[in-house]
Amino acid sequence: MKTSDSELKMRVSFDLDEVLFVSPMTHKTEPKLHFPFDRIYKERLRLGAPDLIRSLQKMGYEVWIYTSSFRSESYITNLFKHYKVKLDGIVNGNRHLREVQKDKKEILPQKIPSRYRISLHVDDEEVICSWGREYGFNTFLLEADDDEWKDKIIGRAEEIRNASKKYEKA
Ligand SMILES: [Mg+2]
Repeated sequence: MKTSDSELKMRVSFDLDEVLFVSPMTHKTEPKLHFPFDRIYKERLRLGAPDLIRSLQKMGYEVWIYTSSFRSESYITNLFKHYKVKLDGIVNGNRHLREVQKDKKEILPQKIPSRYRISLHVDDEEVICSWGREYGFNTFLLEADDDEWKDKIIGRAEEIRNASKKYEKA
């Protein structure tokens, strides 16, 4: 059940591929899961991802996944559960097609976070970030390995939340 409180929470979403899921060849990663779960969930999380998500939630943000991949919601939910992370929402390729693209003739961007009241979306693809202005969402472009990604994203989220609070008061 939704409470009025949770509806006021600012939403932050993360892309999966190359953002939360990265290759240990090119990025620092969280340890892989224990057998047999490492056979089911082969993706490796960027180092610090569970900690960042939990920190944001403790600070009063909702954390969503917005991926253009077709991994199922239950797969994504369960993978993160193994890292003690409970996600607030998931939009995968199927849900986007069903709820955003629908039967529109024009091809919409692969992701429109603002359709889900997401205020900040973290992605590695410049093209997705470039749609933010037109479709009304803020983005954080996460490139390669960045040891300070956690602080930078929290900082960006706080900036946006504070700006919207000021706006509400005005
Ligand atoms: Mg990506």
